[in-house]
Amino acid sequence: MGNRTLAIIKPDAVGKGHTGKIMDRIISDGFTILGARLVYLTREKAEGFYAVHKERPFFNDLVDFMTSGPCMPMALEHEGAVNAFRTLIGATNPAEADEGTIRKDFAESVQNNAVHGSDSDENAEKEIAFFFTPDEIHQS
Ligand code: ADP
Ligand code: MG
Repeated sequence: MGNRTLAIIKPDAVGKGHTGKIMDRIISDGFTILGARLVYLTREKAEGFYAVHKERPFFNDLVDFMTSGPCMPMALEHEGAVNAFRTLIGATNPAEADEGTIRKDFAESVQNNAVHGSDSDENAEKEIAFFFTPDEIHQS
């Protein structure tokens, strides 16, 4: 079980000024932030990040959304980081997210759902490398 995951505070949450509150929830839940940066995704980068969804009907709207303003990718450390973070953020659709989760409290809709979290250890490492070079990640 890996100890790292890639989180993104998405443009809806950054735009509404929720970055600090969401980072506070992440830190309070015991995650260590190994790297973080404000990023303006290009269309090409957003399409690359979500390439696994390119056949889905919502893909174009998702890319529009992810390029609508800055987002904040973060490399996070926690025991069993992938599952721990997905528990903290809740279901993809905020209407189905548990009480106290980040998506329940900050997401607007199934698309504009405030945060991303990796879905496997393998994808976590790929997604961290998508945004950060090894020397940009704090080695704890
Ligand atoms: P998650 O982010 O929970 O891992 P997915 O990987 O299934 O969810 O989807 C990636 C992102 O695509 C979601 O976080 C959300 O922004 C968007 N998305 C997923 N399903 C839908 C949908 N049915 N309609 C619109 N956007 C969606
Ligand atoms: Mg996913």
